Amino acid sequence: MMIFWCLIMNYSGFKIFWEGLTGNKGWKKAWREPNPKKEYDVIIIGGGGHGLSTAYYLSNRFNVNNVAVLEKGWLGSGNIGRNTTIIRSNYLLPENQPFYELSLKLWENLENDTNYNSMVSQRGVLNLFHSDGQRDAFVRRGNAMILSGADANLLNENELKKMCPYLDYQNARFPIKGALLQKRGGTVRHDAVAWGYARGADVKGVDIIQNCEVEGFIIKNGKCVGVETNKGIIKAKKIASCVAGSSSKLMSKAGIRLPIESHVLQAFVSEGLKPVLDNVITFGAGHFYVSQSDKGGLVFGGDIDGYNSYAQRGNLPVVEDVCEGGMAIMPMIGRARLLRMWGGIMDMSMDGSPFIDKTHINGLYFNGGWCYGGFKATPASGYCYAHLLAKDEPHPVARDFKLDRFIKGKIIDEKGQGAQPNLH
Ligand SMILES: Cc1cc2nc3c(=O)[nH]c(=O)nc-3n(C[C@H](O)[C@H](O)[C@H](O)COP(=O)(O)OP(=O)(O)OC[C@H]3O[C@@H](n4cnc5c(N)ncnc54)[C@H](O)[C@@H]3O)c2cc1C
Repeated sequence: MMIFWCLIMNYSGFKIFWEGLTGNKGWKKAWREPNPKKEYDVIIIGGGGHGLSTAYYLSNRFNVNNVAVLEKGWLGSGNIGRNTTIIRSNYLLPENQPFYELSLKLWENLENDTNYNSMVSQRGVLNLFHSDGQRDAFVRRGNAMILSGADANLLNENELKKMCPYLDYQNARFPIKGALLQKRGGTVRHDAVAWGYARGADVKGVDIIQNCEVEGFIIKNGKCVGVETNKGIIKAKKIASCVAGSSSKLMSKAGIRLPIESHVLQAFVSEGLKPVLDNVITFGAGHFYVSQSDKGGLVFGGDIDGYNSYAQRGNLPVVEDVCEGGMAIMPMIGRARLLRMWGGIMDMSMDGSPFIDKTHINGLYFNGGWCYGGFKATPASGYCYAHLLAKDEPHPVARDFKLDRFIKGKIIDEKGQGAQPNLH
């Protein structure tokens, strides 16, 4: 009986062994390829991380199963498959911290939840500080994190040296004085997150429809009742936009202007190296962060390209700028060769914080404005968006992510940099 169960189960160790012996002919597709129905209870536009997690939690937690996810390309073609995979909840503001902490807790149980190996690796995230003032700011941030149930440790220079002996403590342009450590932060295999959520939603009956681009909205008497797509008209009681970098373009088709700009962010991977870096490190005096993938590549990134664009590729000056950031704290990186790089489109909001909200059009909902921090938010974003769609009420940890917060003066400016999307 046990052997039979292992054989029909997807992805058990025994199943992998058995398939290896029998020519890998017994694998089923991880999700179906259905044609769209005429009508659904909920349509989610965008099969990225946030759209798929919304579908997963709607069907698995809120019992809303008559759902379609419409994706214009293939799953993972957007930022969910392009990001640098870092997760953390080291936020300061009370509007953000509980949301990201919920996300980290959902990450911690994700593989159990979806029965999918997403390679959640809580290897620790280190934010370096370089001056007394910056240390004080990190003390404040760490205290805010601890007060809302997250973990935070302040490391002095000697403690940091033990963990990361390869950083430049001697001759650095910005001397490294210590770091704020969140041990529970780390990395997750990003495309496996999309696949795990997709499979878990499909099992519950969610239709995942790839190569299906939404081209317009059908709005009657102030209510959104469906979408026009390249596969025809599809109706729904609720339509949920979740298209990250394409948010402004899509919502303009419903006549909605968003407080969001689209910018390119690049990621870089070096050739494979022996293990040298067992955590995530972020530079405190410039924009650079780095971790090492399980294949050995150093995965790193920095600033956005600095101009509005919908191109999923970046410019060379930013390559130079990011590599300089790396050299400033970790000169050994100069010995590694850059293997590949790519770009993704960021939905940069004016205060650097996201939106999970209803729009003024009845039946039309919006999720976006994740800037370059939306990967870590994937589970909580999906959970809270599903909560909003199922109950028509915001989840308590996402109640401030409102579209009208700029009108009301309730901005959530985590970095204190004002209305400058290129700085958030
Ligand atoms: C280089 C880079 C590094 C990053 N690093 C990190 C990091 O380390 N940590 C972190 O937390 N965040 C990071 N991010 C940000 C994070 O990846 C994004 O904020 C997040 O993935 C956005 O949500 P998503 O996964 O739903 O987006 P996407 O995967 O982009 O999903 C949106 C989907 O909508 C689809 N779509 C668009 N228009 C339509 C339409 N009209 N009809 C149908 N479908 C449509 C797109 O094809 C796409 O698949 C990074 C991003 C990039 C590009």
